[in-house]
Amino acid sequence: MRKIPSPAVNAENKPFFDAAVRGRLLIRKCISCGEVHHYPRAICPYCFSDRTEWMEAKGSGTIYSYSVLRRGVPEPYCIAYVTLEEGVSMLTNIVDCDLDAVRIGQKVKVVFKPSEGGPPVPMFTPA
Ligand SMILES: [Zn+2]
Repeated sequence: MRKIPSPAVNAENKPFFDAAVRGRLLIRKCISCGEVHHYPRAICPYCFSDRTEWMEAKGSGTIYSYSVLRRGVPEPYCIAYVTLEEGVSMLTNIVDCDLDAVRIGQKVKVVFKPSEGGPPVPMFTPA
């Protein structure tokens, strides 16, 4: 299996990775404008409000775009933008499937993969 580097955990994203340890996917919701965003930030990227809060995502979504990397890597892997049911897109990997069968619009669900010495990282697999 491909080695996943440990993500950089900081004060802003720590709750996200604490939740990942428990198998939960958190996203950030703005109380002022109602938009959800990812990667987690304290300030809303849409309206710059600091009134943001954590919410749990269902963990299901759709592949918006993807690319399979084959050259110059020890093992091919798929990097993708997945749009969650909640409407926010995440840059992630598609795993545990035939990479030739990955398609735009495919339904996927979250899985948590161990990283090297760090918290688990949310990735997606066909639903
Ligand atoms: Zn906002």
